Amino acid sequence: MKLAARVKNISPSPTLSIDAQAKKMIAAGVHVINFGAGEPDFDTPEHIKQAAIEALQKGATKYTPVGGTPALKEAIVKKFKEDNGLVYEPEQIVVSCGAKHSLYNAIQALCDEGDEIILPAPYWVSYLEQIKLAKSRAVIVQTRAENGFKLTVEELESVVSPRTRMIILNSPSNPTGSVYTREELAALGEVLLKMRITIISDEIYEKLIYDGLEHVSIASLDPGLKELTVVINGVSKSYAMTGWRIGYAAAPTPVARAMTDLQSHSTSNPTSVAQAASVAALTGTQEPLKQMVAEFKRRRDYMLERLLGIPGISCHRPGGAFYLFPSVEKFIGRAYRGKRIGGAADLAAILLEEAKVAVVPGVAFGDDTCFRLSYATSMENIKEGCDRIEEVLTSVE
Ligand SMILES: *Cc1c(COP(=O)(O)O)cnc(C)c1O
Repeated sequence: MKLAARVKNISPSPTLSIDAQAKKMIAAGVHVINFGAGEPDFDTPEHIKQAAIEALQKGATKYTPVGGTPALKEAIVKKFKEDNGLVYEPEQIVVSCGAKHSLYNAIQALCDEGDEIILPAPYWVSYLEQIKLAKSRAVIVQTRAENGFKLTVEELESVVSPRTRMIILNSPSNPTGSVYTREELAALGEVLLKMRITIISDEIYEKLIYDGLEHVSIASLDPGLKELTVVINGVSKSYAMTGWRIGYAAAPTPVARAMTDLQSHSTSNPTSVAQAASVAALTGTQEPLKQMVAEFKRRRDYMLERLLGIPGISCHRPGGAFYLFPSVEKFIGRAYRGKRIGGAADLAAILLEEAKVAVVPGVAFGDDTCFRLSYATSMENIKEGCDRIEEVLTSVE
């Protein structure tokens, strides 16, 4: 059967495929330490599960409004006001089947063939594929480790063109864990406002932030910026709810309406019961989240110290999310037991084969000198995995 052109150049999610490969080895009885995970290793908090059970028992088993139940929209409106200082009307909120779906709807609703979309690298893998699916053109800007992998105003100005339609920002970032400060966002915002560039601000890791850093939404900095921005968020990461598939977007009314209309012809509403659970996540106790953040911070501190103790590794200190993004540039061009290391991806393959440690090669995020290591796994695994990585890397000739 002939496939449509639009799907022919999609690359399957490399983060999911490494994860799958590691899981296959684990299923075959190999003791793999998996640093590939893209989701919290914690269970969904009990009160959230209970809310879903109650919703089921009360008969919340029918279609809901396409863009979300009134109760969930209200909870999201309240969240934006309290956490981000952003005032939205319920009609400006669109609830979708995960933040990934929210991003897809936004890009489909806003981007045309040939539009240029600025994508700072390292970037989350699905942005690039979603841009391609809209027949738009990604203009990738390589950010630098010495700037904490954050886009500078100079870098932004160097790629802006009359065809620039949009920029995608992600703070805290997957894969780098970088967190933009208010001042940095204000400086970028000034350029974006002047050039009337639409902003997609993916804030899914908002709550997973350490060292007293503050999450700032670029939309909150200026009413003009709010008019240019689609804010993306969701419950997957903050509440360990990846399987429930609830994400949401806040956008100017005509954009929210277009996204809702688009969704009405694909998935319709996201799952009724998962929406009820998400109301509990947003409005209920935030204590489990606090505990999760404290544990993530403990693991980040340990893992960062271990990595920095390995000669040849450098790593910037991530302020959020649950990933480390160390550079292995110093190992490139060398060899391990006769196997040449041509890039970080080769080293990732060696680590999986020789040390049974799964990491995600940075090439998946547009950077073949780094790895992404997820610390969404137990401290015991982190210790063992760091030992194994150290053993291999210290034997590189
Ligand atoms: C996990 C993730 C998402 C998608 O989350 P959903 O599970 O679809 O809600 C979006 N953006 C980034 C950067 C992510 O890491």
